[in-house]
Amino acid sequence: MKDDDVLFLNIGAGTLEQLGFMRWAVIKTADVCFSPDVRKMCEANRCGRYGTTWACPPGLGTLEECAERCRRFENCAVFSRFYELEDSFDFEGMMDGHKDFSAASEKLRSMIEGEFLMLSVEGCLKCGKCTYPDAPCRFPERLSGSLEGYGIFVNKLAETAGMPYNSGPNTVTYFGAVFF
Ligand code: SF4
Repeated sequence: MKDDDVLFLNIGAGTLEQLGFMRWAVIKTADVCFSPDVRKMCEANRCGRYGTTWACPPGLGTLEECAERCRRFENCAVFSRFYELEDSFDFEGMMDGHKDFSAASEKLRSMIEGEFLMLSVEGCLKCGKCTYPDAPCRFPERLSGSLEGYGIFVNKLAETAGMPYNSGPNTVTYFGAVFF
């Protein structure tokens, strides 16, 4: 394990690497862009998760409410991981990566001490059937909203953090963030 100096709260680079997050950077929340255009892309529902859980719009609240939640924190730790695919049509490989990234984000959440807000990939897989929209989330303290659902352009976030958005042919790259 590499030197585990603290990057944010009690989490160090070694911890992130152990969880499979090969890339990370800490940026200022003031440099994160929240855009109504990203919300419009969510509404187009190309991922099929719009309006299915409390982790995506419209269950997350308005763009302004989302941005306000993030801006309570000064800093933003961005982390990412890429997964190899058989080819660019390997939907199963993409879904496996999505599930793995989501689980690793959850593990990271359980290790962080202090006040923070975690965002990760789209949707929420914690319950067999989400309570949305009929009843409140069963685990609000463990809910990670999606970066896109918060109106964040992930490619711009990656650029600001100095991290590659695309990891090359036949790969898929997922991102998460911890505001602290
Ligand atoms: S934790 Fe359960 S109830 Fe809450 S958003 Fe996720 S799936 Fe839905």
